[in-house]
Amino acid sequence: MKSVSALSEAQVGESAAACVAAVAAEHADAVDQAGLLPVHALEALRAESLLGLLVPHRFGGPGFSLRTVTNICRRLAEGCASTGLIFAMHQSQAAVAIDHAGESEWHQQLLLRMAREQSLIASATTEGATGGSIRTSACFIDLQSDALHLNKSGSVISYAHAADIFLVSARCSEDAAASDQQLVAVLREQLTLEPCGRWNPLGMRGACTDRFNLMAKCSAQQIFPGRFADVMSLTMLPSSHILLGSVWLGIAAAALGRAQAFLRKRNRAGAPLNPIANLRLAEGEAMVHQMRALIAANLSLYEADDSQTSATDRMVSYNTLKVSASALVVRITEIALRICGIQGYMEEGEFYLSRHIRDAHSAMVMVNDDRILGSLSSVVLGMPITRDV
Ligand SMILES: Cc1cc2nc3c(=O)[nH]c(=O)nc-3n(C[C@H](O)[C@H](O)[C@H](O)COP(=O)(O)OP(=O)(O)OC[C@H]3O[C@@H](n4cnc5c(N)ncnc54)[C@H](O)[C@@H]3O)c2cc1C
Repeated sequence: MKSVSALSEAQVGESAAACVAAVAAEHADAVDQAGLLPVHALEALRAESLLGLLVPHRFGGPGFSLRTVTNICRRLAEGCASTGLIFAMHQSQAAVAIDHAGESEWHQQLLLRMAREQSLIASATTEGATGGSIRTSACFIDLQSDALHLNKSGSVISYAHAADIFLVSARCSEDAAASDQQLVAVLREQLTLEPCGRWNPLGMRGACTDRFNLMAKCSAQQIFPGRFADVMSLTMLPSSHILLGSVWLGIAAAALGRAQAFLRKRNRAGAPLNPIANLRLAEGEAMVHQMRALIAANLSLYEADDSQTSATDRMVSYNTLKVSASALVVRITEIALRICGIQGYMEEGEFYLSRHIRDAHSAMVMVNDDRILGSLSSVVLGMPITRDV
């Protein structure tokens, strides 16, 4: 296995990520059509040691920044959004494992394992009884004399069959309130996944997102120190919105790239100039630019070690990124379709956009935008709307 530690962050972005992106792009249509995991891309991610990029040096990783990982998400998603999504979700979970290991010996050992074995981490935060409400759980941590038991019913989990580690949220105990949650890192061999029927989704089909009854038996040491509320607000929410935003940017850029190629081909063939389509391309590029700016601003906020920005302002900013980027990606793929016309509408061919359009629509339901806006609405009511930049 190649060591990325010897390379600079920029070199990894240029070389290893480009290599995986090419593999992902090659298999993207087959993965989408069959609704199968992008196994070749996952193998390439492991072979290039890209799964452990965030793990700090002292735990055997290269300790790369979220910024580098964000750019890799976009790059992968340009060729295959499902691969980009898996990579983004995994890295968000990795960021959680790194930031919240604290002094826990068990979790520090987990970080060593993540770098050494290039483990793939999945997320099990949703459950049938609570739907998309991640900040509440019905299931609970049951500390019995032999072990920790945890049964989570109807949890929606992406790439579960490929994952090595699962971060599972649950109430702290049987009598804890629904929002009094903790997070447990469960190893693949410590859990059983009972499928609740196979999903046949519209888009992101390669992520193989299915619903499962999850039954885990592990050690009490595997509970992350601290409360899930802090894990969520400090790491899981910002990192997932930034990384997924970058996946949606990749979809948008790829779709608009096809529209640009379509117009160039037309122009080369001597077709009459189409000022309306050119205007649409500029409109699409302006939206791509907005997405990039939103991601950049939120990355800076995430990286900044400043106490100037209140927790509320941060929350509003990260959630704004999510709902704005998920709306923009749909609009940009639609603009690309208008430009390519019937050639974009076909299921095959050089300019087909079906996969991009279907993948783009996952963004608004992957934690429903209306749920996010609903939680923002009471906060925004009390905020000054007119403020300096
Ligand atoms: C591609 C994809 C991959 C996923 N992968 C994972 C994964 O790996 N792990 C995981 O745990 N989950 C995953 N999920 C699940 C996801 O995080 C959400 O839980 C799920 O999409 C929400 O499903 P829902 O629309 O039924 O529920 P809800 O979010 O409950 O939405 C249903 C409806 O209720 C409305 N609603 C409900 N409550 C409120 C409220 N308080 N305020 C406003 N509106 C409300 C919504 O607007 C919507 O109309 C994935 C989802 C997708 C699409």
